[in-house]
Amino acid sequence: MSTGMDRAAAPITPQAADAAIDGELPGLPIEARPLSQCVGGTLRENVYAERDYPPFDRVCMDGIAIASAAARSGIHRFTVQATQSAGAPPLTLANPESAIEVMTGASLPLGTDCVIPLEQYRLADGFVSLDTPVNDTPFRNVQRRGEDALQGTLMLEAGTLLGAPEIAVAASAGLARVRVSSQPAFKVISTGNELVEPGEAIAGHQIRRSNTYAVIAALRAHGFDRVSDDHLLDDEGMLADRLSQHLATHEALILSGGVSTGRFDLVPKVLKSLGVREIFHRVAQRPGKPMWFGVGPRGQAVFGLPGNPVSTLICLIRFVIPAIVAAMGTRRPAVERIGLAKSLTFDLPLAYFLPVAVELDEWGQPWASPRPTNTSGDFLSLIGTDGFVELPPGPMAYPKGFIAPLYRW
Ligand code: AMP
Ligand code: MG
Repeated sequence: MSTGMDRAAAPITPQAADAAIDGELPGLPIEARPLSQCVGGTLRENVYAERDYPPFDRVCMDGIAIASAAARSGIHRFTVQATQSAGAPPLTLANPESAIEVMTGASLPLGTDCVIPLEQYRLADGFVSLDTPVNDTPFRNVQRRGEDALQGTLMLEAGTLLGAPEIAVAASAGLARVRVSSQPAFKVISTGNELVEPGEAIAGHQIRRSNTYAVIAALRAHGFDRVSDDHLLDDEGMLADRLSQHLATHEALILSGGVSTGRFDLVPKVLKSLGVREIFHRVAQRPGKPMWFGVGPRGQAVFGLPGNPVSTLICLIRFVIPAIVAAMGTRRPAVERIGLAKSLTFDLPLAYFLPVAVELDEWGQPWASPRPTNTSGDFLSLIGTDGFVELPPGPMAYPKGFIAPLYRW
């Protein structure tokens, strides 16, 4: 069934698709956000050490601080002069026969250079008596000022993804806000007359609308939270009307369905009529061959993913999420690579995205155990898988141990 659409264009390789998407997506804008709202974001500025770390000689045991030379000269009984707690300015030792009680995190009192922990002395009547022998080497149980980093050291580089340790470092640098990439507003759109929302009554000839749930779940799992959805029928008028609204209000549209060559696969045609420039249609891959990508008049990214649930999810993970992450200025981590747990063959001249479960052998070495689906509609087979490997185009016999890129869900 032909719709007379441009069937002439030959499918491009997944690598050419990557390059085409990268070349077309503009970098996303930057915004300054409160630190508490930055987890999962991409840092777009360098963060430098505000001060030395630690910023003072820091006591790291509860105990007493003394001048170590005094202990080495034979003094083992000291007068307790005072108590130095965390957050108080440093006290000064009165004389070598004195000791200052110190708490973890306190500034090392001036005139002292060693902390003897609680369990190595006895305290009675305002005096401490050291156990012998006692370890009294200078700066024992003290973290020296600047030992971790000196003021001005580059601690976080632009492009870093902000997880818990990075947020802690930014907070320690005194930043209340940091500059991060703005999150694109995503509209996730299912198309198809046969689709029915979960929770609603369904007839025998209808299909549950599951793709938008899967796509939104994957986007959220990757830290994107500006995500909403819509459902459109295979109707040119409705598609044109609603897609033009979504183009006006969103930076990224992710459609599922309606991009193959059936009579009701209207998505490419309608998008083009709305001024979305087609960059490619069809990628030499299985599943997901009909994938479509275009760029809207304001630089909006428009991904038309084939509607079969396995294709939708694989194309999302393989192309869409890495492209958006790159547009956010995130330094791209190297793609994980893994060996096949057993040999297999594939007969088509297409890149093959094969779902796999990652299993550890008795040495703790990971292997990709193939979990092929029956069809690209068979998403039940994805349960228990960790992602998929990308095998180069067949026809080919891939031996056990064949190394391939792994994309995790
Ligand atoms: P299409 O790409 O529109 O030709 O759809 C291919 C197949 O995927 C059809 O069997 C559709 O019913 C199914 N499909 C499309 N969209 C969805 C969806 N959102 N949820 C579940 N199945 C879908
Ligand atoms: Mg359809």
